Amino acid sequence: MPPEDALQRLAEQIRACQKCPLARLRTHAVPGEGPVDAAIMFIGEAPGYHEDRQGRPFVGASGRLLEKLLAEIDLTREDVYITNVVKCRPPSNRDPLPVEIEACLPWLHQQIAFIDPLVIITLGRFSMAQFFPATARITRVHGRALMQDDRAIVPMFHPAAALRNPNWKRDMEADFAQIPELLARMRAQRDAREQDDGDPEQLTLF
Ligand code: URA
Repeated sequence: MPPEDALQRLAEQIRACQKCPLARLRTHAVPGEGPVDAAIMFIGEAPGYHEDRQGRPFVGASGRLLEKLLAEIDLTREDVYITNVVKCRPPSNRDPLPVEIEACLPWLHQQIAFIDPLVIITLGRFSMAQFFPATARITRVHGRALMQDDRAIVPMFHPAAALRNPNWKRDMEADFAQIPELLARMRAQRDAREQDDGDPEQLTLF
């Protein structure tokens, strides 16, 4: 099956998911959106009111800030994959519960496997917590890439937090400004590894 179709099929499974009580409360599940070959994947927390209504991620005020930050590095939301840790809206936008996160995580893991992004950007602490130790504090580690094989995982503030706090917004702008260079580095690294893997000459060296 072509990868686009596989990702689409996964989205359909997410839309029909009944694995936790949030399923009964949702208008729409929000699987995520973007190209299957996206080099950058953004992972937020959970859909809010507008996302639940439209079935699309980051379409409210947070989404507008995300789009503005992307524009500053010459990207649009169509260039990247955008999703959330939890695919259905928690009531009144409360924090997602551990059982909801646990039930939903396999979807995220499958999305990451299909898209295989070079850079994952976590937005906010719930997303950060999927990749970083519980002791990590976003105010300290934001913008610092964690290298996992040939992928960089960069924790950033959640846009909603940045909208509330001008200092965090400035930090987020500075963190975004580093993305193009990081992406170029990760691309070069993966290209070099793929060349090594595919180059029979290399094998004779060992
Ligand atoms: N906040 C999130 O974490 N995700 C969305 O999709 C929208 C707002």
